[in-house]
Amino acid sequence: MEKCYMCDRQATSREHVPPKCLFPEGKDMDGENHRSNLITVPSCDLHNTAKSRDDEFLMVSLAGIIGNNSIGYRHKFGKVNKAIRRSANKLLLATFKGKQRFYVVEVGPNKFVDVIWGTPDSERLKVCFEHIVHGLHFHHFGHTFKGRIKLHFAYLWSDNKNATSFRDLIKAKLDVELAGRDKFGENQGVFYYQITDRDQFDLYMFRLCFYGGINVHAAMIPEHADVQKDLAWMLVEGGIKTIFNVGDKKFEFN
Ligand SMILES: [Zn+2]
Repeated sequence: MEKCYMCDRQATSREHVPPKCLFPEGKDMDGENHRSNLITVPSCDLHNTAKSRDDEFLMVSLAGIIGNNSIGYRHKFGKVNKAIRRSANKLLLATFKGKQRFYVVEVGPNKFVDVIWGTPDSERLKVCFEHIVHGLHFHHFGHTFKGRIKLHFAYLWSDNKNATSFRDLIKAKLDVELAGRDKFGENQGVFYYQITDRDQFDLYMFRLCFYGGINVHAAMIPEHADVQKDLAWMLVEGGIKTIFNVGDKKFEFN
């Protein structure tokens, strides 16, 4: 009997990670295939309670936003906009909390994308990505991940200086750690992932990359890991000016 990717229950079906709707269909892409060997994991009834609304939410949150490659934009102009129209814009508005401002940006000759500036529904995004990272972990290592996952959405902009420094620091650290390492996933223009080695605390990280430029980082903290609070982070949290060096780059906090 196969176990669920999230829990110890018996699996009753298989689920796509990431959701299948993120991968454009050939008919919308002049026959190009972006659905080769999609990753699936065994899932129990509870964890498979067909999260189609979350899947669409994720699709709208990622496809066509600034930073996408041409596949992401084409997906946005095809299936994603259709789904948004079908929902009378509710789907689009649901990706943000509070006020939004709309812009139209030219991304290529005669190609325009609607850009919304606002605060994304990050709690909902977190739930979606926790499932994806659990699924990828199961797929990669063959067993359920037990522990905490800390997510970091590198593609979101912030006007908070510490948040921006933190984003740049993580990116630089991962660029060094993941340089030349395998990228997993057969449709890399849509999605691939990479994994770092474990550090001295047994922590490791996933980097997820969607549409060539949208990065989400997940720090994996296994339940047995003995994580001491890092002195440097205590300084940052205490509001003290702190500088981190990664390679020849400096990242300043506070
Ligand atoms: Zn389950």
